[in-house]
Amino acid sequence: MAISKLQIQELLDESREHECDGYGEHGICVHIAAIADLPTRFGNFQVVAFYNNEDDKEHIAITHGDICDAENVLTRLHSECLTGDAIGSLRCDCRDQLQSALEQISQEEAGIVLYLRQEGRGIGLTNKIRAYGLQDHGMDTLEANIALGFRDDEREYGVAAHMLDTLRVKSIRLMTNNPRKIEDLTKHGITVTERVPHVLPPNEHNLFYLQTKANKSGHLIDEFGKEHLLEQDDRPIVEGMSEEQIQVLEGQR
Ligand SMILES: [Zn+2]
Ligand SMILES: [Zn+2]
Repeated sequence: MAISKLQIQELLDESREHECDGYGEHGICVHIAAIADLPTRFGNFQVVAFYNNEDDKEHIAITHGDICDAENVLTRLHSECLTGDAIGSLRCDCRDQLQSALEQISQEEAGIVLYLRQEGRGIGLTNKIRAYGLQDHGMDTLEANIALGFRDDEREYGVAAHMLDTLRVKSIRLMTNNPRKIEDLTKHGITVTERVPHVLPPNEHNLFYLQTKANKSGHLIDEFGKEHLLEQDDRPIVEGMSEEQIQVLEGQR
């Protein structure tokens, strides 16, 4: 079962007529522009394109199954990462996280990945590459992030909440390693019935997470003393991590 032709027509009609005061302090309102089938190497999905009243960012929802009026829909929020998602960069874990989320929701009766176009934690592609450059010149991740400013979390959750509402999703199970994300979505009116830890299978690229130890600020560093820049808003858990490592991760934002 997928979103039926009739439901697609209803969603498009509802969206055309939709008006609201907007979500959160930014007053964000989103509308569906188009819906289409999207077969992928990770499973068969549908893709829903949104436009919004704030900027030209074209956020999408990648859905599996009949998510309209559904409860307990397995859901993942993913922030765009051109270098990781498309190019396969090893400076971050975005591609592994995205692929694993798509594979998992393709096994569900109803599942959604919200692919949010907020490259580099919302600072943009160019600034993200600046942060990489700063790291290359010896700045640590924290310093690089401070130099670039932090992302606007409130905006992200407002967009995500409105997208889920527009798709008529009744409640979600959120795939995250960060319990505080549930609070943020709940604040925007989303019912989260469960937190599902997002666990990645080990591969040659994320093995260092298994070998690494947390330093005093709780950041995980590899054997060269380098930390992967945090681009998704929770850190990956890799199969085989110790309880202690997982607790360090879950305590972070
Ligand atoms: Zn609205
Ligand atoms: Zn990335």
